[in-house]
Amino acid sequence: MSEDQAKDPFSAGAVARQLDYCTYCPKMCRHACPVSTSSGRETFIPQVKMDRANQLRLGRAPWTAEASDPLWACTGCRHCTMYCDHGNEPGLVLLSARAAAVQHGVPHPALTGYSERFRAREQRLSAQVHTMFAGQLATEGELGFWPGCDAIDKGAADIAAALALLERVGLEGVKIVDAPQACAGYPLLAAGHKDLFRWHAGRVAASLRGFKKVAMGCSACLYAMRSQYAAEGVNLRAEIVSLADVLAPAAQNLACPLTRKSVYYHDPCYHARYNAVVESPRRALSQLAELREFSWAKSDTECCGGGGLLPKTMPMIADQMAKRRLAEVREAGGGMVVTSCATCTFMLQRNAPPSVEVANLATAMAKLSETPFTAPTSIPDADEA
Ligand code: SF4
Ligand code: SF4
Repeated sequence: MSEDQAKDPFSAGAVARQLDYCTYCPKMCRHACPVSTSSGRETFIPQVKMDRANQLRLGRAPWTAEASDPLWACTGCRHCTMYCDHGNEPGLVLLSARAAAVQHGVPHPALTGYSERFRAREQRLSAQVHTMFAGQLATEGELGFWPGCDAIDKGAADIAAALALLERVGLEGVKIVDAPQACAGYPLLAAGHKDLFRWHAGRVAASLRGFKKVAMGCSACLYAMRSQYAAEGVNLRAEIVSLADVLAPAAQNLACPLTRKSVYYHDPCYHARYNAVVESPRRALSQLAELREFSWAKSDTECCGGGGLLPKTMPMIADQMAKRRLAEVREAGGGMVVTSCATCTFMLQRNAPPSVEVANLATAMAKLSETPFTAPTSIPDADEA
């Protein structure tokens, strides 16, 4: 990886260099892309997506929805980077290309009006978390909990489980961050709305001002806060960690079940390849269960299809990726799959075969340690963004 690429993979020089390298590459990473493998489409291999972005950049292809379609066939999972001798970052460069597509007036058709939809969802989810978890929110503290928008929307029981676990291990002072935002903004980057992302990041930073440390339930927003906020000039006072990082040292205080169940752990790609959250969820789970590994695990994990707004732009391919991920467990006779990101939980749950139970890390730990929790009454889903 070159020096400017390491500093800022979005800088004009870094983007141009990576696009040129990929354009003339003999497709060394093609096997690593779950989007092209799951869809069977050659136009979705990393080299072709990057070549298309280069042709658009150089004015050799028109800025139309059809020509820019491959830019959206990426979850940002970073698996291609693992097999690239240049350390190229298609997952990040394609975000820049999406921003250029939006500037040229060709957002993905499924993301039309996305900024307004994002705002409406934020308002709805912020109100929802206040209703569901009244009395369990705070604007300041040593440690705050940011569940993430998908958890508030579709995984309220997982939030309740996390709060119950934290209380059980003696961290009863931990509250949900009381904020007018529910999401830390990664979807705005993925939708190509970089200016709105910067503005939103500033507002989130203001909401976190009263906390020393914040535990995140979403792997992509953890990455966005740690890396992309600073790249956009937004500084956070709070240290940002994953919920798994908080639960791992505390797990030894939980009662160990007499019969230990076997559970698989699915590494969210943003945790495994951007955030270095690999060992902590394993440590937490190992206290309570026998840990089983997928064939593709840790820094070689396979994406569940939830990143990059793929469930919005190419939902059938996203679902196919989740099914593909769980096929190994189904073929081994089924079992429980645990993951540590709200978006991965949702994607894997909605695509799980009957023999596979998917659980968020907090819920799995609560169940395995017989920690009681009550899921709040769910509020009907309204899927604006
Ligand atoms: S990311 Fe690396 S290996 Fe993949 S196409 Fe680009 S240059 Fe080739
Ligand atoms: S970041 Fe992941 S989804 Fe995107 S091109 Fe690379 S391997 Fe494919």
